[in-house]
Amino acid sequence: MKVAVVGAGIVGAAAAAALARAGCRATVYEARFPGGGATAAGMGHVVVMDDSPAQLALTARGREVWESLADRLPAAAEYRRTGTLWVAADDDEMAEAEAKAGRLAATGIACRMIDARELARREPALRGGLAGGLLVPDDAVVYPPPVAAWMLAEAVAAGAVVHRGAEVVALGESGAVRLADGTVFDADVVVVATGAAAAALVPDVPVRPRKGHLVITDRVPGMVTSQLVELGYVKRAHDVGTDSVAFNVQPRATGQLLVGSSRQIDVTSRGIDEAMLSRMLARCLEFMPGLGSVPAIRSWTGLRAATPDGLPLVGPWPAAEGVWLATGHEGLGITTAPATAEVLAAALLGRASAIPVEPFRPARLHSPGIRHESN
Ligand SMILES: Cc1cc2nc3c(=O)[nH]c(=O)nc-3n(C[C@H](O)[C@H](O)[C@H](O)COP(=O)(O)OP(=O)(O)OC[C@H]3O[C@@H](n4cnc5c(N)ncnc54)[C@H](O)[C@@H]3O)c2cc1C
Repeated sequence: MKVAVVGAGIVGAAAAAALARAGCRATVYEARFPGGGATAAGMGHVVVMDDSPAQLALTARGREVWESLADRLPAAAEYRRTGTLWVAADDDEMAEAEAKAGRLAATGIACRMIDARELARREPALRGGLAGGLLVPDDAVVYPPPVAAWMLAEAVAAGAVVHRGAEVVALGESGAVRLADGTVFDADVVVVATGAAAAALVPDVPVRPRKGHLVITDRVPGMVTSQLVELGYVKRAHDVGTDSVAFNVQPRATGQLLVGSSRQIDVTSRGIDEAMLSRMLARCLEFMPGLGSVPAIRSWTGLRAATPDGLPLVGPWPAAEGVWLATGHEGLGITTAPATAEVLAAALLGRASAIPVEPFRPARLHSPGIRHESN
Protein backbone atom coordinates (compact mmCIF):
# COMPACT_ATOMS: atom_id res chain seq x y z
CA MET A 1 0.00 0.00 0.00
CA LYS A 2 1.23 3.47 -0.94
CA VAL A 3 0.76 5.95 1.91
CA ALA A 4 1.45 9.70 1.90
CA VAL A 5 2.11 11.11 5.39
CA VAL A 6 1.68 14.88 5.63
CA GLY A 7 3.66 16.40 8.50
CA ALA A 8 6.85 15.20 10.17
CA GLY A 9 6.19 16.16 13.76
CA ILE A 10 6.60 13.35 16.25
CA VAL A 11 3.23 11.88 15.24
CA GLY A 12 3.92 11.87 11.49
CA ALA A 13 7.45 10.57 12.03
CA ALA A 14 6.27 7.76 14.31
CA ALA A 15 3.46 6.91 11.89
CA ALA A 16 5.81 6.81 8.90
CA ALA A 17 8.20 4.51 10.76
CA ALA A 18 5.41 2.14 11.82
CA LEU A 19 3.86 2.06 8.33
CA ALA A 20 7.19 1.52 6.57
CA ARG A 21 8.08 -1.27 8.97
CA ALA A 22 4.68 -2.85 8.27
CA GLY A 23 5.52 -2.97 4.57
CA CYS A 24 3.78 0.17 3.29
CA ARG A 25 5.48 2.42 0.73
CA ALA A 26 5.44 5.56 2.89
CA THR A 27 6.32 9.03 1.62
CA VAL A 28 6.49 11.91 4.10
CA TYR A 29 5.82 15.53 3.11
CA GLU A 30 7.04 18.14 5.61
CA ALA A 31 6.49 21.83 4.92
CA ARG A 32 9.38 23.05 7.07
CA PHE A 33 11.64 20.69 9.01
CA PRO A 34 10.96 17.51 10.98
CA GLY A 35 9.98 18.05 14.59
CA GLY A 36 9.79 21.83 14.21
CA GLY A 37 6.08 22.31 15.06
CA ALA A 38 4.39 21.63 18.39
CA THR A 39 6.92 18.83 18.81
CA ALA A 40 9.68 21.41 19.29
CA ALA A 41 7.51 23.54 21.58
CA GLY A 42 6.24 20.80 23.87
CA MET A 43 7.41 19.83 27.33
CA GLY A 44 8.25 16.20 26.64
CA HIS A 45 6.60 14.81 29.74
CA VAL A 46 5.81 11.15 29.10
CA VAL A 47 2.88 10.76 31.44
CA VAL A 48 0.05 8.32 32.05
CA MET A 49 -3.22 10.26 32.17
CA ASP A 50 -6.61 8.89 33.09
CA ASP A 51 -9.34 11.33 32.10
CA SER A 52 -11.02 8.44 30.29
CA PRO A 53 -10.35 4.71 29.85
CA ALA A 54 -9.29 5.35 26.24
CA GLN A 55 -6.85 8.06 27.29
CA LEU A 56 -5.47 5.79 29.99
CA ALA A 57 -4.98 2.97 27.46
CA LEU A 58 -3.27 5.23 24.90
CA THR A 59 -0.96 7.00 27.37
CA ALA A 60 -0.05 3.78 29.19
CA ARG A 61 0.76 2.06 25.89
CA GLY A 62 2.66 5.16 24.74
CA ARG A 63 4.77 5.15 27.88
CA GLU A 64 5.38 1.42 27.51
CA VAL A 65 6.71 1.90 23.97
CA TRP A 66 8.89 4.84 25.10
CA GLU A 67 10.38 2.65 27.78
CA SER A 68 11.08 -0.10 25.24
CA LEU A 69 12.87 2.45 23.03
CA ALA A 70 14.90 3.96 25.86
CA ASP A 71 18.15 2.08 25.15
CA ARG A 72 18.06 2.92 21.44
CA LEU A 73 17.13 6.60 21.59
CA PRO A 74 19.88 9.08 20.69
CA ALA A 75 21.65 10.71 23.66
CA ALA A 76 20.21 14.06 22.54
CA ALA A 77 16.76 12.72 23.44
CA GLU A 78 17.74 13.03 27.13
CA TYR A 79 15.19 10.36 28.02
CA ARG A 80 15.02 9.92 31.80
CA ARG A 81 12.54 8.18 34.07
CA THR A 82 12.02 11.02 36.55
CA GLY A 83 8.53 9.96 37.62
CA THR A 84 5.63 12.35 38.04
CA LEU A 85 4.74 13.78 41.41
CA TRP A 86 1.14 15.00 41.43
CA VAL A 87 1.13 17.66 44.13
CA ALA A 88 -1.91 17.96 46.40
CA ALA A 89 -2.36 21.36 48.01
CA ASP A 90 -5.08 20.37 50.49
CA ASP A 91 -7.22 17.50 51.75
CA ASP A 92 -9.63 17.73 48.81
CA GLU A 93 -6.75 17.28 46.40
CA MET A 94 -5.40 14.41 48.51
CA ALA A 95 -8.77 12.72 48.04
CA GLU A 96 -8.45 13.33 44.29
CA ALA A 97 -4.94 11.88 44.38
CA GLU A 98 -6.26 8.77 46.11
CA ALA A 99 -9.00 8.34 43.51
CA LYS A 100 -6.41 8.74 40.77
CA ALA A 101 -4.14 6.20 42.48
CA GLY A 102 -7.04 3.73 42.49
CA ARG A 103 -7.68 4.17 38.77
CA LEU A 104 -4.00 3.84 37.85
CA ALA A 105 -3.41 0.85 40.11
CA ALA A 106 -6.47 -0.89 38.64
CA THR A 107 -4.70 -0.97 35.26
CA GLY A 108 -1.35 -2.01 36.68
CA ILE A 109 0.32 1.41 36.66
CA ALA A 110 2.75 1.63 39.59
CA CYS A 111 2.03 4.57 41.90
CA ARG A 112 1.92 5.41 45.58
CA MET A 113 0.56 8.11 47.86
CA ILE A 114 3.06 10.22 49.75
CA ASP A 115 2.34 12.35 52.79
CA ALA A 116 3.30 15.96 53.50
CA ARG A 117 6.50 14.97 55.27
CA GLU A 118 7.75 12.78 52.43
CA LEU A 119 6.75 15.42 49.88
CA ALA A 120 8.89 18.00 51.71
CA ARG A 121 11.78 15.58 51.94
CA ARG A 122 11.67 14.56 48.26
CA GLU A 123 11.09 18.05 46.85
CA PRO A 124 12.37 20.62 49.36
CA ALA A 125 11.92 23.49 46.89
CA LEU A 126 8.14 23.16 47.21
CA ARG A 127 6.51 25.52 49.70
CA GLY A 128 5.57 24.24 53.12
CA GLY A 129 2.00 23.41 54.05
CA LEU A 130 1.17 21.20 51.07
CA ALA A 131 -0.87 18.11 51.85
CA GLY A 132 1.14 15.44 49.99
CA GLY A 133 0.82 13.85 46.61
CA LEU A 134 0.81 10.89 44.30
CA LEU A 135 4.07 9.54 42.89
CA VAL A 136 3.97 7.75 39.52
CA PRO A 137 7.57 6.54 39.36
CA ASP A 138 7.70 5.19 35.80
CA ASP A 139 6.68 8.40 34.01
CA ALA A 140 9.54 9.98 32.10
CA VAL A 141 10.80 13.12 30.38
CA VAL A 142 12.31 13.46 26.92
CA TYR A 143 13.53 16.18 24.56
CA PRO A 144 11.24 15.56 21.55
CA PRO A 145 12.87 17.23 18.48
CA PRO A 146 15.81 14.80 18.12
CA VAL A 147 13.40 11.92 18.67
CA ALA A 148 11.24 13.05 15.75
CA ALA A 149 14.37 13.19 13.58
CA TRP A 150 15.44 9.75 14.83
CA MET A 151 12.00 8.25 14.15
CA LEU A 152 12.11 9.69 10.66
CA ALA A 153 15.54 8.13 10.13
CA GLU A 154 14.04 4.82 11.29
CA ALA A 155 11.28 5.29 8.72
CA VAL A 156 13.84 5.93 5.98
CA ALA A 157 15.82 2.86 7.05
CA ALA A 158 12.61 0.86 6.60
CA GLY A 159 12.15 2.25 3.07
CA ALA A 160 10.22 5.50 3.54
CA VAL A 161 10.98 8.59 1.45
CA VAL A 162 11.00 12.06 3.01
CA HIS A 163 10.40 15.36 1.21
CA ARG A 164 11.46 18.34 3.33
CA GLY A 165 10.30 21.86 2.45
CA ALA A 166 7.27 20.20 0.81
CA GLU A 167 4.12 22.04 1.78
CA VAL A 168 0.95 20.18 0.88
CA VAL A 169 -1.67 22.70 -0.19
CA ALA A 170 -4.49 20.36 -1.14
CA LEU A 171 -5.63 16.76 -0.92
CA GLY A 172 -6.86 15.27 -4.16
CA GLU A 173 -8.97 12.24 -5.00
CA SER A 174 -8.20 9.09 -3.03
CA GLY A 175 -4.93 9.83 -1.34
CA ALA A 176 -3.28 12.26 -3.76
CA VAL A 177 -1.46 15.30 -2.41
CA ARG A 178 -0.73 18.56 -4.22
CA LEU A 179 2.34 20.56 -3.19
CA ALA A 180 2.74 24.32 -3.19
CA ASP A 181 4.83 24.08 -6.41
CA GLY A 182 1.92 22.36 -8.16
CA THR A 183 3.38 18.85 -8.15
CA VAL A 184 0.84 16.12 -7.50
CA PHE A 185 1.79 12.80 -5.91
CA ASP A 186 -0.51 9.80 -5.88
CA ALA A 187 -1.02 7.44 -2.98
CA ASP A 188 -3.67 4.96 -1.91
CA VAL A 189 -4.13 6.77 1.39
CA VAL A 190 -3.01 10.12 2.78
CA VAL A 191 -2.41 10.43 6.53
CA VAL A 192 -2.84 14.02 7.72
CA ALA A 193 -0.46 14.47 10.67
CA THR A 194 -0.21 18.24 10.60
CA GLY A 195 -1.09 18.79 14.26
CA ALA A 196 -2.96 22.02 14.99
CA ALA A 197 -2.93 22.89 11.27
CA ALA A 198 -5.12 19.90 10.35
CA ALA A 199 -8.17 22.02 9.53
CA ALA A 200 -6.22 23.86 6.81
CA LEU A 201 -6.16 20.67 4.73
CA VAL A 202 -9.34 19.03 6.04
CA PRO A 203 -11.56 22.08 6.64
CA ASP A 204 -14.32 20.50 8.72
CA VAL A 205 -12.06 18.47 11.00
CA PRO A 206 -12.84 19.34 14.65
CA VAL A 207 -9.33 20.38 15.73
CA ARG A 208 -8.71 23.77 17.33
CA PRO A 209 -5.39 25.35 18.28
CA ARG A 210 -4.72 25.67 21.99
CA LYS A 211 -1.74 27.88 22.70
CA GLY A 212 0.69 27.16 25.52
CA HIS A 213 3.68 29.01 27.04
CA LEU A 214 6.83 27.47 28.47
CA VAL A 215 9.94 28.91 30.15
CA ILE A 216 13.38 27.34 30.49
CA THR A 217 15.58 28.44 33.38
CA ASP A 218 19.27 28.61 34.13
CA ARG A 219 20.95 25.48 35.53
CA VAL A 220 19.96 24.62 39.10
CA PRO A 221 20.91 20.92 39.34
CA GLY A 222 19.08 19.04 42.07
CA MET A 223 16.51 21.73 42.80
CA VAL A 224 13.73 19.47 41.48
CA THR A 225 13.85 15.68 41.18
CA SER A 226 10.55 14.52 39.67
CA GLN A 227 8.27 16.20 37.16
CA LEU A 228 5.99 18.19 39.46
CA VAL A 229 2.40 18.88 38.48
CA GLU A 230 -0.36 20.33 40.60
CA LEU A 231 -3.44 18.11 40.81
CA GLY A 232 -5.57 21.03 39.69
CA TYR A 233 -3.84 20.69 36.25
CA VAL A 234 -6.33 18.08 35.11
CA LYS A 235 -9.35 20.23 35.98
CA ARG A 236 -7.86 23.30 34.30
CA ALA A 237 -6.78 21.43 31.17
CA HIS A 238 -10.33 20.04 30.85
CA ASP A 239 -12.02 23.41 30.81
CA VAL A 240 -11.35 24.06 27.13
CA GLY A 241 -13.26 27.34 26.79
CA THR A 242 -11.40 29.21 29.53
CA ASP A 243 -7.80 30.43 29.57
CA SER A 244 -5.95 28.58 32.29
CA VAL A 245 -2.58 28.14 33.96
CA ALA A 246 -1.18 25.38 36.15
CA PHE A 247 2.00 24.65 38.10
CA ASN A 248 4.07 22.19 36.07
CA VAL A 249 7.88 21.97 36.46
CA GLN A 250 10.21 19.52 34.76
CA PRO A 251 13.84 18.86 35.73
CA ARG A 252 15.95 18.62 32.56
CA ALA A 253 19.04 16.44 32.28
CA THR A 254 21.04 19.68 31.89
CA GLY A 255 20.01 20.84 35.38
CA GLN A 256 17.65 23.41 33.88
CA LEU A 257 13.97 23.59 34.78
CA LEU A 258 11.25 23.63 32.18
CA VAL A 259 8.36 25.62 33.61
CA GLY A 260 4.72 25.59 32.44
CA SER A 261 1.94 25.66 31.66
CA SER A 262 -0.80 27.75 30.07
CA ARG A 263 -3.76 27.08 27.78
CA GLN A 264 -5.63 29.48 25.47
CA ILE A 265 -8.12 28.10 22.97
CA ASP A 266 -8.29 29.43 19.38
CA VAL A 267 -5.26 31.69 19.85
CA THR A 268 -2.93 31.22 16.87
CA SER A 269 -0.48 34.11 17.36
CA ARG A 270 2.83 32.63 18.42
CA GLY A 271 4.09 35.71 20.29
CA ILE A 272 4.53 35.76 24.06
CA ASP A 273 1.39 36.97 25.81
CA GLU A 274 2.96 38.86 28.73
CA ALA A 275 -0.21 38.75 30.85
CA MET A 276 -0.61 35.01 30.39
CA LEU A 277 3.08 34.37 31.04
CA SER A 278 2.95 36.43 34.25
CA ARG A 279 -0.15 34.55 35.38
CA MET A 280 1.54 31.22 34.69
CA LEU A 281 4.70 32.15 36.58
CA ALA A 282 2.72 33.56 39.50
CA ARG A 283 0.94 30.22 39.79
CA CYS A 284 4.27 28.40 39.79
CA LEU A 285 5.67 30.71 42.48
CA GLU A 286 2.70 29.84 44.69
CA PHE A 287 4.00 26.27 44.77
CA MET A 288 7.73 26.96 44.50
CA PRO A 289 8.68 30.41 45.83
CA GLY A 290 12.41 29.82 45.21
CA LEU A 291 11.77 29.77 41.45
CA GLY A 292 11.59 33.56 41.68
CA SER A 293 15.35 33.76 42.12
CA VAL A 294 16.22 31.35 39.27
CA PRO A 295 17.04 33.26 36.06
CA ALA A 296 14.79 32.48 33.12
CA ILE A 297 16.70 32.03 29.86
CA ARG A 298 14.00 31.79 27.24
CA SER A 299 10.26 31.55 26.87
CA TRP A 300 8.27 30.39 23.86
CA THR A 301 4.85 29.21 22.80
CA GLY A 302 3.37 26.33 20.85
CA LEU A 303 0.00 25.25 19.56
CA ARG A 304 -1.64 22.09 20.83
CA ALA A 305 -4.26 20.43 18.62
CA ALA A 306 -7.42 20.21 20.74
CA THR A 307 -10.47 18.04 19.99
CA PRO A 308 -13.92 18.37 21.60
CA ASP A 309 -13.59 15.13 23.59
CA GLY A 310 -9.92 15.33 24.49
CA LEU A 311 -8.96 12.24 22.49
CA PRO A 312 -6.91 12.27 19.29
CA LEU A 313 -8.33 11.53 15.85
CA VAL A 314 -6.65 8.42 14.48
CA GLY A 315 -8.25 6.70 11.51
CA PRO A 316 -10.23 7.41 8.33
CA TRP A 317 -12.09 10.69 7.96
CA PRO A 318 -15.55 9.72 6.70
CA ALA A 319 -16.07 12.86 4.61
CA ALA A 320 -13.08 12.40 2.33
CA GLU A 321 -12.19 9.13 0.66
CA GLY A 322 -8.60 8.05 1.18
CA VAL A 323 -7.98 10.66 3.90
CA TRP A 324 -6.85 9.38 7.29
CA LEU A 325 -6.13 11.52 10.32
CA ALA A 326 -3.45 11.32 13.00
CA THR A 327 -3.92 14.55 14.90
CA GLY A 328 -5.71 16.11 17.88
CA HIS A 329 -3.24 15.02 20.56
CA GLU A 330 -3.55 18.26 22.59
CA GLY A 331 -1.01 18.11 25.44
CA LEU A 332 -0.19 14.41 25.10
CA GLY A 333 1.24 13.97 21.63
CA ILE A 334 4.77 13.25 22.81
CA THR A 335 3.56 10.60 25.23
CA THR A 336 1.18 9.01 22.77
CA ALA A 337 2.91 9.31 19.37
CA PRO A 338 4.37 5.77 19.46
CA ALA A 339 1.01 4.26 20.49
CA THR A 340 -0.81 6.40 17.91
CA ALA A 341 1.46 4.98 15.22
CA GLU A 342 0.55 1.46 16.32
CA VAL A 343 -3.18 2.24 16.35
CA LEU A 344 -2.96 3.85 12.91
CA ALA A 345 -1.00 0.99 11.34
CA ALA A 346 -3.31 -1.62 12.88
CA ALA A 347 -6.46 0.16 11.66
CA LEU A 348 -5.05 0.82 8.18
CA LEU A 349 -3.74 -2.68 7.63
CA GLY A 350 -6.51 -4.52 9.47
CA ARG A 351 -4.10 -6.02 11.98
CA ALA A 352 -4.41 -6.66 15.70
CA SER A 353 -3.70 -3.67 17.93
CA ALA A 354 -2.17 -3.57 21.42
CA ILE A 355 -5.07 -1.34 22.48
CA PRO A 356 -8.58 -0.83 21.03
CA VAL A 357 -8.61 1.45 17.98
CA GLU A 358 -12.33 2.32 18.12
CA PRO A 359 -12.21 5.15 20.71
CA PHE A 360 -9.89 7.14 18.44
CA ARG A 361 -11.81 6.76 15.18
CA PRO A 362 -12.50 10.23 13.74
CA ALA A 363 -16.03 9.15 12.73
CA ARG A 364 -17.12 9.72 16.33
CA LEU A 365 -16.78 13.48 15.78
CA HIS A 366 -18.00 13.67 12.22
CA SER A 367 -21.35 15.31 11.48
CA PRO A 368 -22.78 13.67 8.35
CA GLY A 369 -24.32 16.96 7.23
CA ILE A 370 -20.88 18.46 6.69
CA ARG A 371 -18.94 17.33 3.64
CA HIS A 372 -15.26 17.90 3.10
CA GLU A 373 -14.56 19.30 -0.37
CA SER A 374 -11.34 17.85 -1.64
CA ASN A 375 -9.67 19.76 -4.44
C1 LIG B 1 3.38 24.17 25.48
C2 LIG B 1 3.18 22.72 25.14
C3 LIG B 1 3.53 21.74 26.07
C4 LIG B 1 3.36 20.40 25.77
N1 LIG B 1 3.77 19.46 26.67
C5 LIG B 1 3.62 18.15 26.36
C6 LIG B 1 4.07 17.15 27.28
O1 LIG B 1 4.65 17.45 28.31
N2 LIG B 1 3.86 15.84 26.96
C7 LIG B 1 3.22 15.46 25.80
O2 LIG B 1 3.02 14.26 25.61
N3 LIG B 1 2.82 16.38 24.90
C8 LIG B 1 3.00 17.70 25.16
N4 LIG B 1 2.57 18.66 24.28
C9 LIG B 1 1.86 18.22 23.08
C10 LIG B 1 2.79 17.76 21.99
O3 LIG B 1 3.87 18.67 21.83
C11 LIG B 1 2.00 17.63 20.70
O4 LIG B 1 0.82 16.88 20.93
C12 LIG B 1 2.80 16.92 19.63
O5 LIG B 1 4.05 17.54 19.44
C13 LIG B 1 2.02 16.92 18.34
O6 LIG B 1 2.83 16.39 17.34
P1 LIG B 1 2.32 16.41 15.85
O7 LIG B 1 3.31 15.64 15.06
O8 LIG B 1 0.89 15.99 15.81
O9 LIG B 1 2.29 17.96 15.46
P2 LIG B 1 3.48 18.95 15.10
O10 LIG B 1 4.68 18.69 15.93
O11 LIG B 1 2.91 20.33 15.12
O12 LIG B 1 3.86 18.54 13.63
C14 LIG B 1 3.07 18.87 12.52
C15 LIG B 1 4.02 19.02 11.34
O13 LIG B 1 3.24 19.20 10.16
C16 LIG B 1 3.88 20.14 9.35
N5 LIG B 1 2.86 20.69 8.46
C17 LIG B 1 1.79 21.47 8.81
N6 LIG B 1 1.06 21.75 7.72
C18 LIG B 1 1.68 21.14 6.68
C19 LIG B 1 1.38 21.06 5.30
N7 LIG B 1 0.31 21.66 4.77
N8 LIG B 1 2.21 20.36 4.48
C20 LIG B 1 3.29 19.72 5.00
N9 LIG B 1 3.62 19.77 6.31
C21 LIG B 1 2.82 20.47 7.14
C22 LIG B 1 4.47 21.15 10.32
O14 LIG B 1 5.52 21.89 9.73
C23 LIG B 1 4.91 20.27 11.46
O15 LIG B 1 6.26 19.86 11.33
C24 LIG B 1 2.77 20.02 24.52
C25 LIG B 1 2.44 20.99 23.59
C26 LIG B 1 2.65 22.33 23.88
C27 LIG B 1 2.30 23.35 22.84
